[in-house]
Amino acid sequence: MAASMKVCRIRSCAVYSRIKSNSKHSHLYKQCRHNSTQENLKGVIGLEIHAQINTKSKLFSASPTAFGAPTNTQVSIFDAALPGTLPVLNGECVRAGVKTAIALNSKINKVSKFDRKHYFYADLPQGYQITQQRKPLGVGGEVEYILIDDNNRYVLKTARITQLQLEQDSGRSVHDEEAGQSLIDLNRAGIGLMEIVTEPDFENGIDCSSFVREVQLMMRQLQVCLGSFREGGLRVDANISVHSPDQPLGVRSEVKNLGSLKDLRNAVDYEIERQKRLIKNGGTVINETRTFDSESRKTIPMRDKERMQDYRFMPEPNLPPLHLLDSSTAIHTKQTNMVNIDEEIQKMPPLPRDVRNYLLNNCMLSLRNVYILANEDKGVEFFKEVMKFSKSPPNLIGNFIVNDLLGVYNTKEAKIRRSPISPDIVAEIVDIRESGYSSPTHCCRLVEMYLNQSTTDRPRTVVDNNGWRLIRDVETLKPVCVRILEANPRLVKKYCTGKEEKSLNSLMMKGLNETQKKAHPAKMKELFIELLEEEKLKQR
Ligand code: ADP
Ligand code: MG
Repeated sequence: MAASMKVCRIRSCAVYSRIKSNSKHSHLYKQCRHNSTQENLKGVIGLEIHAQINTKSKLFSASPTAFGAPTNTQVSIFDAALPGTLPVLNGECVRAGVKTAIALNSKINKVSKFDRKHYFYADLPQGYQITQQRKPLGVGGEVEYILIDDNNRYVLKTARITQLQLEQDSGRSVHDEEAGQSLIDLNRAGIGLMEIVTEPDFENGIDCSSFVREVQLMMRQLQVCLGSFREGGLRVDANISVHSPDQPLGVRSEVKNLGSLKDLRNAVDYEIERQKRLIKNGGTVINETRTFDSESRKTIPMRDKERMQDYRFMPEPNLPPLHLLDSSTAIHTKQTNMVNIDEEIQKMPPLPRDVRNYLLNNCMLSLRNVYILANEDKGVEFFKEVMKFSKSPPNLIGNFIVNDLLGVYNTKEAKIRRSPISPDIVAEIVDIRESGYSSPTHCCRLVEMYLNQSTTDRPRTVVDNNGWRLIRDVETLKPVCVRILEANPRLVKKYCTGKEEKSLNSLMMKGLNETQKKAHPAKMKELFIELLEEEKLKQR
C-alpha cells in the first residue's frame, strides 16, 4: 500500500492507466485515485451577505430603525404581527435595492415578487419572513475586488453574483443566563435587508473577506447600508465545501451569522481544514448548519437546526408584484413615487471600482497602494487632498502616504481619518523628499515631529534649522569625491576593470559617511561616475 501511494504521487497518470487495465489490481487503482483526490482538496465557498438597508423606517411599516434604542420601543402593530395588520412597501428600501443591484452589475427585474418563508422562532412573530424567493429584484452580476494571493501578491479578481433580494430582518433573542429566560427585542423585526447571494467563486478566508470588504465599501458609497458589522448592519453566511478541482463540488456546510471580516476569514479557513481532515480520515462532510466561536476559533454544529428545514415557501398574498420603471415605461405612468431604474443609473456616484481605476490608471499607483489606501478610512480623500498641495508625481505621493506616513501612524495608533498632520504639511514633506531637499530618514523624522506636535514651523524651516538639507552643489561635493577616490585606488581599479556596481556601492557608502549622510545620493553618484569614467579614459 505504502509503495503504491509513493508511485502514485510521482508518476500518477502512467500508474493509473497501468493498474486500471490490470483487473487483478483494480482495488489499487481505486486506492490510488482516492489518495490523490484527498491530497489536492481545495476549498470552495459561496456567500450570502445580509445588509440592513439604511432607511428611516422599516421595510413594511413606519417604525423607526435607529440602532441602540431601548428594547421594544420601535415596534408597530405590524412588526408585532397583530392579526389584521398589512404590509406597506417602503419605496426607499426598493430604491436602495435597485442602486445596489446596479452597482453589482445585476440584471434588474422590472417585476419582482415577494414570498413567505416559514419557520418558527421566538424572534419571528409572524411565523414567516417576507422575502423574494421566486423572482428577486436583481439576478446575476459580478464584482471586481483586490485580493492578496498565497504568494502575497495583490491581484484583481472577479466574483459572480447569483441574486439580490429584499427581505425582512428578524427580531433579536436576548438570553438572560441568571434568570434562565430568553427575552425578545422586536426593534430589529421588519427592518429592510438586502440579501446578496454569490456563486461558489471563493477559495479561502482572505478571498471571502476581500470580496465582502469591497461590497461593504460599495454600499457605504451608495449610502444604502451603514455597513457596520458591530452594529449588526452586516452579517454573512458562508457555504463551504472542499473538492478536488477535477471533481464535482463537494457537500457543503453553512456557517451562519459571521459578525466581522476577521470571523469570516477565520471561520472559512477553519472549516476548510476541518473538512479536509475529515475526508482524509475516511469520514464524509454532512450538509449542516454551523456557527463560529470566535474565542476558540472553531465552527460547531448548531443544535437547533439539525433537521432539514421545510420553509413551505408561498407567494405573499398581501403584496402585489413590485413594478419598476425605466425610461421607456416612465412616460406611460402618472405614479411619481415609483423607482425608475434609468434615473438611478444616471445618479450613480463613483463606486470603489471607479476610484480604484482612477488611482491605477490616472495616478499610476501600484495595486498594493490602491488596496491599502482604499481600505483606510478616508485614505483616498486624504491622498487627493495631498495631491492638490504637492508638486510631486501622484505615484510618489501614494508611496509616501502608504509606506512612510502610515508606517509612522500605525506605530502611534494615529488614523488618516482624523489625521493629526494636515494634507498641506504632508505635501510639503513629500516634496522635500522627492526633490532631494532632505533625506528620506529626515522626512520620517519630520512626520514624527508633527505627530508629537513638537514643532509649529513649516517643514522646510524645520529642515533648515536642524541642518537636514542635503548637499547638492558640485563645489562642495566634488572635492569630497576626489578625496575619496585618491584614498581608495583599489576601488578605482575595480571600477575600471568592469566591477562597476560593486565599486560604486562601496564608494557611495564612504561618501555618505564622510558627509554625515547629508550628500544628495543621486548627485554624489553622478559625480563619482563622472570622475571614474575620466579615470578609465586616462588608463586606456
Ligand atoms: P440554499 O437556498 O439552500 O441556501 P443555494 O443553492 O441557494 O442554497 O446556495 C446558497 C449558497 O451556497 C450560494 O452562495 C452558493 O454559491 C453556495 N453553494 C452552493 N453549493 C455549494 C458548494 N457545494 N460549496 C460551496 N458553496 C456552495
Ligand atoms: Mg442559505
